[in-house]
Amino acid sequence: MSATPPAAALASAAPPSAIFGRDQAPPRPTIVRGDGVWLWDDADNAYIDASSGAVAVISVGHGRQEVAAAMAAQAQTLSYVVNAQVGHAVGEELAHALLAHAPQGIERALFFTGGSEANEAAIKLALQYHVVRGEPSRQVILSRRRSYHGMTIAALSVSGHPARRGPFEPVLPWTPDVAPCNCYRCPFNSSFPQCGIACADDLERAILAAGPQNVAAFIAEPIVAAGGPGMTPPPGYFERIRAICDRYGVLWIADEVVTGVGRSGSWFAVEHWDAVPDLLTLAKGLSGGYAPLAALLVHRHIADTFAASGQPFIHGHTYMEHPVSCAAGMAVLQIIEREDLVNRAADSGEYLVARLQDLASRQPLIGDVRGMGLLVGLELVADRTTRAPLPAALGVTQRLLEAARVRGLLLYPGQSGEGTSDQLLVTPPLIVTREEIDTIIARLDAALQDVAQQIALPT
Ligand code: PMP
Repeated sequence: MSATPPAAALASAAPPSAIFGRDQAPPRPTIVRGDGVWLWDDADNAYIDASSGAVAVISVGHGRQEVAAAMAAQAQTLSYVVNAQVGHAVGEELAHALLAHAPQGIERALFFTGGSEANEAAIKLALQYHVVRGEPSRQVILSRRRSYHGMTIAALSVSGHPARRGPFEPVLPWTPDVAPCNCYRCPFNSSFPQCGIACADDLERAILAAGPQNVAAFIAEPIVAAGGPGMTPPPGYFERIRAICDRYGVLWIADEVVTGVGRSGSWFAVEHWDAVPDLLTLAKGLSGGYAPLAALLVHRHIADTFAASGQPFIHGHTYMEHPVSCAAGMAVLQIIEREDLVNRAADSGEYLVARLQDLASRQPLIGDVRGMGLLVGLELVADRTTRAPLPAALGVTQRLLEAARVRGLLLYPGQSGEGTSDQLLVTPPLIVTREEIDTIIARLDAALQDVAQQIALPT
C-alpha cells in the first residue's frame, strides 16, 4: 500500500469542474479509490481519511468488497419497490438488526436517504404525534445554540449553526435558544459539578418561555459534531433532559446521525447516559458511505399512539427504505458486529484522545481536546492559559485543513461562534489501527507547525 503524502499542491492542468461547488476554492483533489482508512487521488497521492468524510461517515473502511457484493446482489434481485405499498425482506432484516441494539423501548424503524431527511421526519412525526393526541398547539421545536441537524428547512431551523442558516434565516420557523454543553467555555461561567448542570435546566427555561402547551419536542446531538466539535454533556445531563421533557409532555429527539452505530464507543451515544429518547435518528456510519441511508427509530409509546388513533404518519419519500441501501446497511452492520468495531472504537478513541492530549502539550495552538470514542473535537486558541480565541481573520482552521491535506491528512472543520473561531473534528473510520492513529498524529503535528509558522506563533 502506497501511503506517500501528496508533496505539492494540486495539479492545475485539469479542465474546470462542471460540478456546482459549495466552496469554490481551494480546488478539490479528484479521489479515485479508497482502501481501509486510505484514499488515493488521480496522481496516486495517498491521504489518510481522518474525518471519515463529512463527517464520521466511513465506519467499516473504504473498499470493503463484501458490502459492494451485497449491494450488487440486491440490485440484481430487487432494486426498488414503493415502500408505502409493499415491503421487502432486506428492509425488515435491517430494522430488526438495528433495533436489537437500540435502547429499550425503541421498537420501530423507518429508513431514509440522509441525516437531514431523518431529522425532518423526526420533527414532523413529533408534530403529528401531538395532533393525534389532541394537542395541536404544540408546534415549537426547541434546540441548542451550538448544533447541526441538517440543511432542509425544518432541520436547518433547529440547527444552531449561524453560518449555514445565513440567507435562509427569514424563512426558518424556529430559533435554537437552549444553552449548549460547552464545558470549555461554559455559558454560565461555571464548571461541572458546581454548575449543577445549568445547561440542562436551561431547557426548562426555554419550555416555560415558549409556553409548555406550545412545545412539541427538543432535539439534540448526544455529542456535538460540526456545530461544536466533540462537545459532550456531563454525567446526569440527559437524565435531567428526560425528566424535564416528561414534566412538560415534550418529546426528546436524539440526533445520532453522527454518533449512532458505534462512533462514540457504544452502539448509540445516548447509552452513555441513563435515559431513553422518544425518537432517535441515525445516518452516516449506518451504511458507512456505501449508499445513501439514514434511519428514524421510534419509541413504542409513539407507535402505540398512532396505532390506537388509526392514523398513519403523513410522510414519505420515493427512495425511503431503498433495498440496495438497506443491503449496504445490513452488510455494514454485520461487519461492525463481526469485527467488534463498537468496542474497538472505544479503545481506539481512548488512544486517539491520549495522543491528541500529548500533542496538545507540545502544540500551543490546541486549547481543548474533547469527545467520546472516535468522535473527537479540537479547539484551537491563541493562548492556552487564557483560552483567548484566534482572530477569525487569520482563518487558522482553513489553513490547518489545507496544510494537513498537503501532508496527506483529511480533517473536517467545525463552526465558529460563542467565543471561538477555530474548531475541527478528528473522526477516523472505526477500523483505524493504533499505527494509523500514530500517522494521523504525526501529520497533524507537522501541519500544526506549518500553520504556526504561517501565522508566526511560537511553537
Ligand atoms: N445531524 C448531524 C448531527 C449531522 O452532523 C449532519 C451532517 N453532518 C446532519 C444531521 C445532516 O445529515 P445529512 O448531511 O446526511 O443530511
